[in-house]
Formats: sequence, structure tokens, C-alpha cells
Amino acid sequence: MKSDKITTVWLDLDDTLIDFTTNAAAALSRMWHEQDVLQRLFPSAEHWALRYEHHNQALWAQYSRAEIERDYLRMERFRRPLVEAGMPDTEARRLSTAYDPYYLDLLAQGKALMPGAIELLEWLHAHSYTIGIISNGFKEVQHRKIHNAGLEPYIDIIVLSDDIGINKPDPRIYKYAMERAGQPDPSTHLIIGDNPDTDISGALASDWKAIWYLPQRAADSLSERCPAGATLVRTLQEIPHLLQSA
Ligand SMILES: [Mg+2]
Repeated sequence: MKSDKITTVWLDLDDTLIDFTTNAAAALSRMWHEQDVLQRLFPSAEHWALRYEHHNQALWAQYSRAEIERDYLRMERFRRPLVEAGMPDTEARRLSTAYDPYYLDLLAQGKALMPGAIELLEWLHAHSYTIGIISNGFKEVQHRKIHNAGLEPYIDIIVLSDDIGINKPDPRIYKYAMERAGQPDPSTHLIIGDNPDTDISGALASDWKAIWYLPQRAADSLSERCPAGATLVRTLQEIPHLLQSA
């Protein structure tokens, strides 16, 4: 990767800096333990989390492709597992509306970070890169997550798809990010993210440089999905070396 011209480093938030997987599992488990109705419908916290994630992941894939609206996603990711478990639809809709802010609150309290996240931000900051967050997450929770995880002091720019109504990988979000950074040359921008479809392919299509972070907990075989033109890393600790060996 030629990195000599890079001035702005954009990081995805969930499962790139913040350990979203761990924080979401803790939030879902706490919901099950606090809600009698969930305990009646699902035999264990793990079972509840699995059914939620099954629907949530499918809905997020549709949301990234701009096939569904965010309010639909937020209703359906709770309504579907509840109805599937036998709850009448009207009751499931009422409960889903209540669960949405409750879950986002629990999620925002999560403090787990990916290994080496703070060290990477410190290194980028010390080397005078402009540091941006570029995330498809919901504005109600992303700012609180950034604050609670202690990331705020390092971040210069925050671009949320939810603020502008355009999701990664739509090229318009990368264009908007370049405008926010005041750097119109795409080759000065680097993205680091864990999702090859939303984070990486979209950035490459906009002529940004790209590092695909495939965390060590993910299966080795997934590395075959690395988009052409991206550099693959399995740890955040590898990134300073890549940027220095231009
Ligand atoms: Mg991510």
C-alpha cells in the first residue's frame, strides 16, 4: 500500500474500534435477564440473542443496500423474533417499540474495545493524521458509544450515515467525508474497517486507500473475501507498520 500521501484516516466504529459483538451480546443477555416476557418465550439468554441476531443481520444487509428504512429495521429486529416465538403481532409491535430505546441504552453502556484500538488512535494522533469516524450506526447511540468508550479525545470528524441519509457503500458518503475533511484528493484518504462490502468496497470505488481489518476471532477462510486493492490485516497493531513502510 502506497501511504506517503495519506493525510486522513477514517475508521469504522463497530467491530473496528468498539467491540460491538461483545457489547451487543452483553446488552441482549441483560435484556433477557431483566424481562420476564423474554424468559417465558426463549429458553435461555443465548437462544434469545441468536434469534435476534438472525433477524438483525438480515435487516442490516438490506439497510446497507438502502432497501429498507431505519425505523423499519428498528421495529422488525425485535418484532420478528417475538412473533416467531409465539407472541401476537400487536403485542410484539408494542414491545418492540419499548425495547428499541432500552436496547440502545444498554448497548451504549458497553465499554469493550477491539484489541489495540486506543494504541492505534494514539499512534495516528501522534503522527498528525486527521482522524475520522465513518459509521452506518444510529445517531442516537453512536455519539454516546464514542464518548463512553473514551474515544472522543482522538476523533477530529464524525460522519454518520444516519445524519445525512446515505449509507456506506454509497459513493456519496465518501464524497461527503472528503468535503468534511477539506481534502478533495481521494488518494489522501484511507479507510480502516471490518466489513468488506460496506467499508472497503465503497471506499475503493471512491479511489480511497483501504485496509480491511479481519479480527483474529473471525475464520481464516474469510480472508479470501478481501477485495482487490485492499490490504488485509488481522490485528490493529499491524497498521502503524503498514503506514510507515510506504
Ligand atoms: Mg463495522
